[in-house]
Amino acid sequence: MSPHQPQHLYYEGKQQKASSGKTFETIDPSTAKPLATIHSASHSDIDAAIASASTAFHSWSHTPPNQRCRILLKAVQILRERNDQLAKVESQDTGKPFSETSTVDIVTGADTLEYYANLVGGGGLNGETVTLREGEDGSAWVYTRKEPLGVCVGIGAWNYPIQIALWKSGPCLAAGNTMIYKPSEYTPLHALLLADIFTQAGLPPGVFNVVHGAGDVGGYLTSHPSVAKVSFTGQVSTGRKVAASAAGGMKYVTMELGGKSPLLVLDDCEVDNAVDGAMMANFFSSGQVCTNGTRVFVPRKLKAAFEKRLVEKMEYIRAGDLADSATNFGPLSSKSHWQKVTEYIRHGIDADKAKLLYGGLGAPNVPSRLKDGYWVNPTVFTDCTDDMRICREEIFGPVLCILPYDTVDEAVERANNTSLGLAAGVFTKDLNLAHKVVARLQAGITWINSWGESPSEMSVGGWKMSGVGVENGRKGIEAWVRNKSTLVDMGGQVATVFAKL
Ligand code: NDP
Repeated sequence: MSPHQPQHLYYEGKQQKASSGKTFETIDPSTAKPLATIHSASHSDIDAAIASASTAFHSWSHTPPNQRCRILLKAVQILRERNDQLAKVESQDTGKPFSETSTVDIVTGADTLEYYANLVGGGGLNGETVTLREGEDGSAWVYTRKEPLGVCVGIGAWNYPIQIALWKSGPCLAAGNTMIYKPSEYTPLHALLLADIFTQAGLPPGVFNVVHGAGDVGGYLTSHPSVAKVSFTGQVSTGRKVAASAAGGMKYVTMELGGKSPLLVLDDCEVDNAVDGAMMANFFSSGQVCTNGTRVFVPRKLKAAFEKRLVEKMEYIRAGDLADSATNFGPLSSKSHWQKVTEYIRHGIDADKAKLLYGGLGAPNVPSRLKDGYWVNPTVFTDCTDDMRICREEIFGPVLCILPYDTVDEAVERANNTSLGLAAGVFTKDLNLAHKVVARLQAGITWINSWGESPSEMSVGGWKMSGVGVENGRKGIEAWVRNKSTLVDMGGQVATVFAKL
């Protein structure tokens, strides 16, 4: 299947024509040229996809876990065999360099699918037994089962398309659910490729399905009465709408939302390592990562040394042809996002009056055939204050803000002074202090002397407005099952109060 052909829908184990008549185009952000035409699902298409998923649920949820495991591991194998081909598509669709997509996006997605296939196949999704009474005539106990939910919806953001699809479908399908997946309209090209891989691996028709479209398609899915759960990745504002819509039908939800994460550099840190951490936290994927550490708190006495090394290392950022293995910085993913990030940089300079240390408005030097792409300069502001808009709102672009501080207590307090709580981190050689600081930071994902690594074993999810629930790790599977408790009484007599006096 070519990702450049018109893209339709996928249910009943094969591609299906969309009937809405509505189409949109996906664009290569490095050139601003169209890549493919996508057909949006109509309500009746979505109903058909959900009907297919509902039918498949009965047999898939009764398929023995080790058989589900075998099929999903086959999909892992195909994903790894096709890593570079899929990475090329992701690069074109998202604008991320091939050096990133070929080493991170498919790799981390396949790892998570493998993790959950093995977890469930190895008997890791069992309940518990609790003894209540033991005795010849009165043994009683409770046992619990973890049962799949039914038809689940996965709605993805545009920054890590295939990774998000796999982080959702991996535990969902391993636990015995079926899924309707809606990719972002900005980066839809991975979806049919993934559906095809699942089918080739032996996944029965209807277990993984794809519908395309914008927010209205997502809205119809989240309010559909046959849907048991919605797993959403996106902005806080959209997450609010999705959670409210799902609450109407008392559906289970997982919300992976935005952040404005603090990175605390302490004065005894290894400066080079802290600078590397700050750069990974702001310029990897051109800053389009939910866990970006955009508020970099630096002790006043270390500021000059930190800034000097940062400016030196900024020269290692290389924009250019995405297929070139030396390129490590791409454009922003869409024109509207480029406008938004550019506006934040302008606001930082003109209205916030932040001091520009590096970059600013304009674009990096790229070959002439890429001149129309959605490029912005990697940008560093310094001497920032907490009240600046660039330090309060999620920019989701390559904009790093340095906030000087005097004491660790002050830095922690300021770091927590936000309604968001996705990620946080600290750089210091004093590990006792590192643990104390992390314990006080209000965030669901934290790092010590590191930033950004998010392996399948690590449960990740936001606090406060950054989300509900977690993905990945042992805890991640719990979001895709419901509990059934059964009390067994071997005594043969109900302990009744309605006995004859
Ligand atoms: P959006 O919230 O704009 O969109 C996310 C998805 O929701 C898209 O598929 C979108 O469709 C869909 N959608 C839009 N409106 C509705 C609706 N009313 N009902 C149901 N679905 C709807 O987010 P972005 O795509 O802009 O992604 C960037 C955001 O995602 C950032 O805030 C980032 O921090 C966050 N994010 C969080 C992660 C986490 O794990 N915490 C990971 C990655 C990103 P369409 O766009 O096609 O209209």
